[in-house]
Amino acid sequence: SARFLQPAYSPALQQFLARKPRLFINNEWVESSHGALLDVEDPSSGKVIGQIVDASDADVDRAVAAARLAFDDGRWSGLAPMQRERVMHRLADLLEAHADELSEIEAVDNGKPKGMAAAVDVPGAISQLRFMAGWASKIGGETTAPYTMPGGTVFSYTLREPVGVCAQIVPWNFPLLMACLKIAPALAAGCTIILKPAEQTSLTALRLADFVAEAGVPAGVLNIITGNGHTAGDRLVRHPDVDKVAFTGSTEIGKLINRTATDTLKRVTLELGGKSPVVIMPDVDVAAASAGAAGAIFFNSGQVCVAGSRLYAHRSIFDRVIEGIAEASAFWAPRPSLDPDGHTGPLVSQEQFNRVMGYIEAGKRDGASVAVGGDAPAADGYYVNPTVLVNVNPQMSVVREEIFGPVVVAQRFDDLDEVAKAANDTCFGLGAGVWTKDVATLHRLASKIKSGTVWGNCHGVIDTALPFGGYKESGIGREQGRQGVDAYLETKTVIVQL
Ligand code: NAD
Repeated sequence: SARFLQPAYSPALQQFLARKPRLFINNEWVESSHGALLDVEDPSSGKVIGQIVDASDADVDRAVAAARLAFDDGRWSGLAPMQRERVMHRLADLLEAHADELSEIEAVDNGKPKGMAAAVDVPGAISQLRFMAGWASKIGGETTAPYTMPGGTVFSYTLREPVGVCAQIVPWNFPLLMACLKIAPALAAGCTIILKPAEQTSLTALRLADFVAEAGVPAGVLNIITGNGHTAGDRLVRHPDVDKVAFTGSTEIGKLINRTATDTLKRVTLELGGKSPVVIMPDVDVAAASAGAAGAIFFNSGQVCVAGSRLYAHRSIFDRVIEGIAEASAFWAPRPSLDPDGHTGPLVSQEQFNRVMGYIEAGKRDGASVAVGGDAPAADGYYVNPTVLVNVNPQMSVVREEIFGPVVVAQRFDDLDEVAKAANDTCFGLGAGVWTKDVATLHRLASKIKSGTVWGNCHGVIDTALPFGGYKESGIGREQGRQGVDAYLETKTVIVQL
């Protein structure tokens, strides 16, 4: 129907899409060794709109060699820290100057509304660079007071040194934001990088590459290569000249990467899946909490690692909460990504569409009832309507597994201990939302729920200055904040007898 027709692309975007597919290595655009390409699709229409390189083993090796040399000769880590800081701010300035263009690219590549990319993704990416830029000059070690031993006075200190060459592998849900979240702490620490965006959404990373040299990042420090995960990604994880792997994506691939990286004992940080609970206590303003719970799951079509995909509403307000979410779902109805009235778009791909619809069908087969949505509009893109499933039980796959779509399972509870136990009945532990007016209840639940982040009366809010990461199978390590820089540093202890 006309409602699902993608508006025309801007001339600048058309020009960008017509570029010859290449890789960014050593601050140069280079051809692939074997010429294999991957199609780029607009999920709002299902049409192929361009091509990217599917990097070969030789391409990966070339990028790693560039990063290795750039690290080993100290052209980045040896710069004065405030010089690195300036370069990072210049990169942020360039992203800011091209924010509108980057938002449009993200919209047609990922499917999210251009307005959301402009409000969330692009400013979020810039914030990561600006926050971490300041850390470049604040990295330092410890000293102990000198003391006397029989052989003489001993003076000791620690050095914080960059880990080295980092392979950074990112997913398709927030492509530019995830890319900057990865490169920012690594650049601040003085590491060199091979960034591999997801094969479904590589375009904003390629546009970012245009600004790297202009910002003053020396050649070889930030290399950006596109390609499939099981080939190019795997090659990076195995490569003996890579010192660290930072990955965001599915728990399944995260476990595989962790196993593979063990052979060379690389440093590994993993940001993986979730099945985040949203708990609504009986004392809330039901309208506000229901709208919040709807946003927690339907924002970005549920393709969010911290999506509030398990809803627990107190028995006394359960029916009113479901009604409130049903009302809010009109706001979150999907539209083509360049439709200025849309708040969500299609899912990223046919594969993801099949996966999400498959879960909804499995839920129904297992006995769940559809309270809202449950279907897909007739359209060429990968649209799924906001969906609420009720009459579910903790054994169902829709309750246990990460769906990564606009699907929430809703359950009733009677008391705090019961809901804390239910919230923790999962292998994941990434985020949790608690809605209540009672401060004591909020802090009690915040302490009982096993997850990397707990939100009170909000959901998915990110504070760049504070750590983000997962308990249990949601990951290893933390990103952002001081801990985010630490993840790119080794500690060396120096003990000197004077
Ligand atoms: P994925 O984990 O396969 O892909 C993420 C990134 O890893 C991509 O860049 C991909 O190319 C790369 N990759 C894949 N296999 C690799 C390998 N063997 N070695 C090295 N790199 C590899 O995610 P997906 O298949 O695109 O999505 C599947 C499911 O993952 C989704 O339905 C969702 O449940 C989950 N997911 C979670 C997140 C998150 O942020 N938690 C993000 C994306 C997807």
